[in-house]
Amino acid sequence: MEFKLPELPYSLSALEPHISKNTLEFHYGKHHQAYVNNLNKLLPGSPFENSSLEEIIKGSDGGIFNNGAQVWNHTFYFNTFSPDAKGTPDGDFARLLEKEFGSFENFKTEFTAAAATLFGAGWAWLVSDDSGSLSIVKESNAGNPIRAGLKPLLTCDVWEHAYYLDYQNKRPDYLNAFWNIINWDVVAERYDKA
Ligand code: MN
Repeated sequence: MEFKLPELPYSLSALEPHISKNTLEFHYGKHHQAYVNNLNKLLPGSPFENSSLEEIIKGSDGGIFNNGAQVWNHTFYFNTFSPDAKGTPDGDFARLLEKEFGSFENFKTEFTAAAATLFGAGWAWLVSDDSGSLSIVKESNAGNPIRAGLKPLLTCDVWEHAYYLDYQNKRPDYLNAFWNIINWDVVAERYDKA
C-alpha cells in the first residue's frame, strides 16, 4: 500500500503565533513527508506491504516501525490542533479528566511535566485503557502506545524539530503554547470511539 501525506485541516499559518508557518513548512512539509516517503520505499517486498499503519505499529521493527509510527504519530498530532481552539474541554470528557486527575489544571501540570522531562526525542501521550481509565505515558523516538494495547487520545511531539525554529531550546515555552491550540472536541471523540 502506498501511503500519502494527509492534508492538514487548517492552513500553514493558522496556528500562529503558537506554531509558526515556518515550523509547519518544515515539520509537516519536510519531516512528515519524509517519513511517508521513507515508509513507501521500505514496504515493497516486506511482510508489511499490504498492512495498515496500525498493523505496522503493532507488528514491525526497525525502519518500517520507525517510519510507519512517525507517519501515524504526526497525522494524529497535527489533527489535534485548531486555530479556533477554546482552551479547555467541556461536557463528559471534562468531567472525566477532573475525576482522573483531580482537576483540568492538574492534568495539564502532569502532562506538561511528562513532556518536559522526556529525555531526548519522543512523544508524551494521554491514553485510555480497556476500562476507559486515563493515563499519561512517555514514549521515546517513534514510540506509540497502540503497541501496548492503549488508545491514544492526545499527544505532544517533543522532538526538537517540533519547536526549535520557534522556541530554540526552550521546550517549556513550546509546551505552554501547545495548550492554546488543542481541539478538545477531537480528543473527546477519540475517547468515545469504539
Ligand atoms: Mn515531529
